[in-house]
Amino acid sequence: MDHSCSSLKADVTCNKPELVLTILHFNDVYEVEARPEEPVGGAASLTSVLYKNEMLSFSPTRFATALKKFQLLNPFVVFSGDCLSPSLLSTVTKGKHMVDVLNKLGVHCAVYGNHEFDFGVDHLEEQTKTMTFPWLLSNVYDRFTSETLGHGVVSTVLEWNGLKIGVMGLAEEEWLDSLGTVDKKDLDYIDYVETADHLSAELRDKGANLVIALTHMRWRNDIRLALESKGLDLILGGHDHEYGVLEVNGILIVKSGSEFRYLSKIDVVMDQDGEFEYSCEKIVIMKDLQEDAEIKNIIRGYTDNMRHMLGELLCHIEVPLDGRYTSVRRAECNLGNLVTNAMLEATHAEVALLNSGTLRSDRLHPAGPLTMHDLLQILPIRDPVLVVEATGQQILEGLENGVSNYPALDGRFPQVSGIQFGFDPNGKPGHRVIAETVKIQGKSLDRDRKYRVAMKEFLTKGKDGYTMFSGCPHKQDIENAQILSTILINHFESGQIVRGMKKWRSGHRMGLIKVSCSPSLKGEEVGLAVVPGVEGRIFQVHPEGQPEADGQAETDGQPETEGPPETEGPPEPEGPPETKGQPETEGQQWAGLF
Ligand SMILES: [Zn+2]
Repeated sequence: MDHSCSSLKADVTCNKPELVLTILHFNDVYEVEARPEEPVGGAASLTSVLYKNEMLSFSPTRFATALKKFQLLNPFVVFSGDCLSPSLLSTVTKGKHMVDVLNKLGVHCAVYGNHEFDFGVDHLEEQTKTMTFPWLLSNVYDRFTSETLGHGVVSTVLEWNGLKIGVMGLAEEEWLDSLGTVDKKDLDYIDYVETADHLSAELRDKGANLVIALTHMRWRNDIRLALESKGLDLILGGHDHEYGVLEVNGILIVKSGSEFRYLSKIDVVMDQDGEFEYSCEKIVIMKDLQEDAEIKNIIRGYTDNMRHMLGELLCHIEVPLDGRYTSVRRAECNLGNLVTNAMLEATHAEVALLNSGTLRSDRLHPAGPLTMHDLLQILPIRDPVLVVEATGQQILEGLENGVSNYPALDGRFPQVSGIQFGFDPNGKPGHRVIAETVKIQGKSLDRDRKYRVAMKEFLTKGKDGYTMFSGCPHKQDIENAQILSTILINHFESGQIVRGMKKWRSGHRMGLIKVSCSPSLKGEEVGLAVVPGVEGRIFQVHPEGQPEADGQAETDGQPETEGPPETEGPPEPEGPPETKGQPETEGQQWAGLF
């Protein structure tokens, strides 16, 4: 590497190896609560602790203490993306608490992670305005503005410790697919090697002594960057959550784990020939570190304010939203249609399939204001949504499983979007779905064709009897998945945008703007119905072969408020129904708050 002493400022001595810079690096921080086991980092059930009214132990507090230990070295602090989401607290704060935490930690620059976009480009740009450091993004451009997405800074030279440090922010092409609220076709992508070469030269021209690529990409791409690019000194990455340091082609690649559990201390030393040498030390954030009082107060301010924030109005609904177990676990219902429509639109899948056990409120939500509290009663579990590739045959088997226990109040009963089907409730379990009635996006099911099916991670693991999906290839990995409750929050915001109640600056879609899958919505109506009706997606077929609308469909989206549900099956169980396959340990819950 070509770094001559003469290019450095006077305070750098050339005679002996000398520490010229200490960089502190971290990436991918989501939860703020310390975990019980070492390294304490983040995660664990925030709400259960809140419920017990105990003071939490927060992970960024110890992390801040670790950072402060190096204060005398005047470190350059960098972050490689993913902080605004997903987490329990960020579902409510939309990541605002992390803005305050990262500001307080004294971050000097960062690269956008995919999860920075979980609540939309507008929201992100509002947050970056309040951040005390620049966010970089060098190789992804917004076709609407012809500028970088989220107005990320393309590159910058920061002066620190008498050094000029050139920094860029690089993403991989797969990053574009993992954005929850931005459509890839609205973006222009430039290969990261090409960008790195161009920017390295430019930064050197501007006098940079050291050029760092902050990246949010998988290892294989960081390695390719190190192998093929020219002019980079360091690659400090995120997106992968495992801690790792690798030297490739003479370039150090560092990934610092996740969840405030680790910090990388990278020392830049100048040797006798005036060359930079790098060494990396892994700092593990252990319980014995004291909690930083200032950071603790910041997070506590947000958690104390949770109840107030839960009152946030998401949507004014015009019809009652039926979340009663007796409805959602036996028939198509408007709540199931709402949730699955949002899943479909957020993922661009052809079919959305939800086990109705997901819908936990067991109540009829009256027409009127629907709040964050209501939503988290309906979806208390932090459920990642994945898109899998399933054959028509597997989908058929999935539907069979869904109706196999009808009329028992079984959480496996499906709620669907993009698909219609009829079943014979009196048929033998496993042979109830009438294959000829199954339509996907209005077309008859092709058993051999592969379809993109959006479902919770829970079902991709074969839970609730959906074993036919356990071997299906995923279209994305779990770390890129959107959280179901966030998909709904974005959906309601889209409704406000479509109705002109909320300004929409970026032009990028947020969740449900159109419902191409919904038979009741045509043409101009698309996007206006925030809560769809019950429209014959799931219907009963009796032996004569005549389709028969079930009890729900007759109510035309206006569920009855009183009286027992219609049922020809065995009597309902007393008390709350069993939640087969939906153990309390599935995901993380908000239950403690209610
Ligand atoms: Zn990421």
